[in-house]
This record gives sequence, structure tokens and C-alpha cells, in this order.
Amino acid sequence: MTKKTLPFQAEVAQLLHLVTHALYSNKEIFMRELVSNASDACDKLRFEAISNSGLYEDAPNLEVRVSFDKDAKTLTITDNGIGLTQQEAIENLGTIAKSGTKDFVSKLSGDQKADSQLIGQFGVGFYSGFIVADRITVESRRAGVPANEGVRWTSDGGASGGDAFEVENITREQRGTSVILHLRDDALEYASTWKLKSIISKYSDHISLPILMEKEEWKDGELINPNDEAGGRQPGGMVNTGEWEAVNKASAIWARAKKDISQEQYDDFYKQISHDFEAPLAHTHNRVEGSTEYTQLLYVPGKAPQDLWNRDKKGGLKLYVKRVFIMDDAEALLPSYLRFVKGVVDSADLPLNVSRELLQESRDVKAIREGCTKRVLGMLEDLAKHNALPETSADGVTDVVSDEDKALVGKYTQFYAEFGAVLKEGLGEDFANRDRLAKLLRFASSTTDSTTVSLADYKARMKEGQEAIYYITADNAAAAKNSPQLEVFKKKGIEVLLMTDRVDEWALNYLHDFDGTPMQSVAKGAVDLGKLLDEDEKKAAEEAAETFKPLLAKLKEALKDKAEDVRVTTRLVDSPACLVVQDDGMSTQLARMLKQAGQ
Ligand code: ADP
Ligand code: MG
Repeated sequence: MTKKTLPFQAEVAQLLHLVTHALYSNKEIFMRELVSNASDACDKLRFEAISNSGLYEDAPNLEVRVSFDKDAKTLTITDNGIGLTQQEAIENLGTIAKSGTKDFVSKLSGDQKADSQLIGQFGVGFYSGFIVADRITVESRRAGVPANEGVRWTSDGGASGGDAFEVENITREQRGTSVILHLRDDALEYASTWKLKSIISKYSDHISLPILMEKEEWKDGELINPNDEAGGRQPGGMVNTGEWEAVNKASAIWARAKKDISQEQYDDFYKQISHDFEAPLAHTHNRVEGSTEYTQLLYVPGKAPQDLWNRDKKGGLKLYVKRVFIMDDAEALLPSYLRFVKGVVDSADLPLNVSRELLQESRDVKAIREGCTKRVLGMLEDLAKHNALPETSADGVTDVVSDEDKALVGKYTQFYAEFGAVLKEGLGEDFANRDRLAKLLRFASSTTDSTTVSLADYKARMKEGQEAIYYITADNAAAAKNSPQLEVFKKKGIEVLLMTDRVDEWALNYLHDFDGTPMQSVAKGAVDLGKLLDEDEKKAAEEAAETFKPLLAKLKEALKDKAEDVRVTTRLVDSPACLVVQDDGMSTQLARMLKQAGQ
């Protein structure tokens, strides 16, 4: 069959033009991406071979080989995994299958730093090869298909202006894929055993299959004059011995003992699975034994991905069964309000051929999900606890704070700014943990500049006689602060929590009280300030109610289609009137939201 030239999907073309520039300072990630693709390909083979062992052909040992040729300026990554058919090469290496791509590309600003952060989260995957290569050739043959059905895919990544790639049919005995990078002149440093080894161990130690490189040894140069030892030699150099050796540890990080794993290794693994350049805020790593056995390694990221609010977005956990990779985004392993968590669950009990549907019904999965939820909440509680340094107590004694704890200061604030709104969904979603969640909530308030007031802080500051936790929902902090409904609270110096997240209205429906104190919207019903009013104020209110009775009756009549009730209120100080809703009614904020949504 002859060569075919095919265009890249428009988004790929756009992405390719940006990749080389935006990722310039993070060049080496191409290795992480290509090795992880090789490892994925081996995982896929292992998985398909569960039901068709013939796919192993005569090479059952899965491995990745990395080699380079200094003279040809090439770097090659070869795996003996599942391989690609021609059609798969066209589909998988010419498009981006993931949803939200267009959206993502449109968000790129041209600002290198911001873009590289975005691209990192998005994961450029295979295309990252073009950071260091001006041409990439992929040669592959799918497991189980004849040798003459191999494919060669090649492209300059659009550098020639064509935004196209070529595919042709080849014969390839070896199953699997070789990715051949034709290195750019400014990337020749990667044609070095030392350099490659250090990158591989940084990113790929946990990859559970061996990554092999050819062993090198020093060879002295030839004598300049064969008859004269003292006459000197040509410069010596490293030469290949023809022997291959594994250069990664090849052990899954989560299967190792905690004490053998450094913070840096934990962070690197997170970066590998999340495509994030920044370290995570926290991690938790446990082996759970008992009726359901599994290992969990979970991370709280420092930044929200741009598709956090995408309803189709699945959870971020990878599922393994006894170290065999089963699936990405196993959404059944965590409730949806914890979808920002990244990590791995490795189960000892689930069958290898478990499907997404089966996961939903499995009792083991239910136990894992509850276990993971507890651990994540525990992590967040820990961050919250160490968010601020302990205050100096009255007798001038300050607790000694360890460096570890100091490193946690401010992290919960960072977490909450990124993910607080998602966490609130849990109030409606996870009744069993509602009390723990309520303790993790933080709000702005009418009497402080802080935006991280917890319900417990609020309760501790409540006025004598105050019987409820007051809050108001609004579109933004300014609107909330200036609401007429706050007037009497301001006058009396009573704190009101200001809630400005879109989900607050909905979420607060599920939180009727905190620690025995009812939650009360100041925009709902006849707020009963009862014990908070002094005698004079009460008397004035009663008198007013009496005096205005005839007026109220008239107003009620006039507004009968527009308002359910008209009453005298103690909640206003300066404003003449305000709108409120019945206790059981939809709040104005929620009503507005539904209207926006066209309901
Ligand atoms: P991702 O790995 O997130 O799917 P990539 O851009 O890294 O995205 O890879 C795109 C696709 O190309 C993969 O999903 C896979 O189908 C295919 N692919 C890439 N590298 C290999 C490989 N070494 N062997 C088989 N398929 C591969
Ligand atoms: Mg990939």
C-alpha cells in the first residue's frame, strides 16, 4: 500500500504549534509521556491477554527499551505492548479524543507560564515528543495481526506548514511500537545514557515493567602510534556493550513501604499521574486489611483543573487489581464531590475483568469508596487543623511547631479557594459525612475581613441570647454585604455569614443545623431576633405592628398577585422595605438561578 497524507484534527494542529513554545522550560516531560504510553500499551496487552493469551505471541515478557544514536540524532522508545493498527494510528495520533479539547485550546493565552500550567493539566501526551523532535516516526504492529500489517506514521508536527502526517503499510516482525524522535539541534543533550537514566528514574521508577537501556562501558582510544605507548591515544569514550539492563526500579510506588518513599518520590508520582507541574497539597497512603483488602495512595492537588465543573468529568482515581492496571477515572471509587482527588487504588479482591458497570454494584467497591472518602476527609481535616500557626497563649507560651507542621500553614486556605465549592456538594450527596463536611466549610462574614470563617469560629463568637447561625446568599460579597436584610444585624453587631458560591443555596438546604445550632437565612421568613432585641425595641415593634395594621391590609390587597404576605419587620434600620421569602420557600437567589437556567 502506498503512503497516505492525512491532516491533523484542527485542535491538534493548534496544540502542536503551542507545545514547543509553552513547554520549552519543561522539555524533559516528553520522556514521562512516551514511557507512560509504552507502559499503557503493555497494560492493555496484559489486559486483553487475560481472555486471549495468544496475543503474547512468543514474547511474554513485557518491557520498554530506550536507545539513541548520536550520529543519526535519534532517540527511540520501543515497547512490546498492544501496538497500533493503521486505523488506530490515524485515529489516535491525529486527533485528541478527549472531550473539552476545543475549549482547552481556546483558553491558551500565549502567556508561556499560564499556558504551560494549562497544558500540563491537560496532558499533551504523545504530542510532547515535538518539544524535542522536529520529526517523529512511529512504527508499530498490533498484537495478534500478521507481520505485514504493520504501520509507519510520520510527521514533522506541522513545522513545514502542512499540519499533516503520513501513514504507510510496513512489515514488522516485532509486536508493539517504536517511537523514533529525530532530535532538534537544541535537544541533543537527550542522546546521553546518563541524562536519560536520570529522567527515567525521576518519572518512571514506579512503572511496573522494566525500562531497559544498553549498558555502556569506557573504552580507551586507539594509540596514535601503534608502536609507541607514550605517544598518546585518541580520545576514549563510552561504548555499548550490547547488554541491556533495567534502569528503573520497576516497583509500583504504592506497593512499597511508606518509610522507603521520600516526599520527592511521592510528589513525582503525583506529577506523573496528574500531569500537574506543581506538588500536591497532601497525600495519604495506606494498606487496608480486613474483609476488603486494598492499597490507596490519594492526593489533594493544589490547583483545580479547568474542567472541574464539567458534569461528565469522572473521578481521578486509577484502579489496579493486584498491580494490573484496570482503568483510569474509576468514578465509583469516590463520591462525585471528591472528584478533584487524584491517585491509585489497588484492590486485592476484585476480578481482573471487572467492568465499570460491575464496579457500581460491587460490595468491595462500596467499602473502598467509604474508606477512600474517610481518608480524604481526614487529609482535609489535617490541613485545616494546621492552616494557621497556634496563637501565643495568655501566659506567653507558644506550642513548639515542627517544620512539618509549618509547611502546612496556609494550605487549607489554598485548597478551599480552589475546591471549597465542590466540597459543598457533599452536603447534599453524602449524608453519612455531613457533620465532618460542615466542619470543613469556610465563609466570608459581615463582621470580619476573613474569608475563612468556620461554623465553629462563628459559634464561638455568637452573642448572648443568639439562637441561630445567620447567613445570607448573594451573587457576590459586595451584594451580600450591602443587602438591606443585614441592617439590623449590623446595628446589633451580629455576625452574618456571606455565601456567594453558586452551590451555597442548594447545599445549605441540606444543612439544617451545625452542632445543635440551627442555620437561619436572614432572607427567609420572619427572622425572630427574639432574645436579641431589648425591651424598648420589642415594644416599638409591637406598637408598629398595631399602628400599621390598616396600611398592611391595603398593601396586601394591592400586592396580592405579587407578594404572599406583607408584614412589619425588625430587620430593617435604614431601608423602608425589603423582599423576603417564606421559610419553606425558594430563596430569591435560588429563584434567580433557576430563572437563569430557563426553568
Ligand atoms: P493518552 O495516553 O492520554 O491517551 P496520548 O497523547 O499520550 O494520550 O496518546 C494518544 C493515544 O495514542 C493513546 O491513547 C494510544 O491509543 C496511542 N498510543 C500512544 N503511544 C502508544 C504506544 N506506545 N502503543 C500503543 N498505542 C499508543
Ligand atoms: Mg499518554
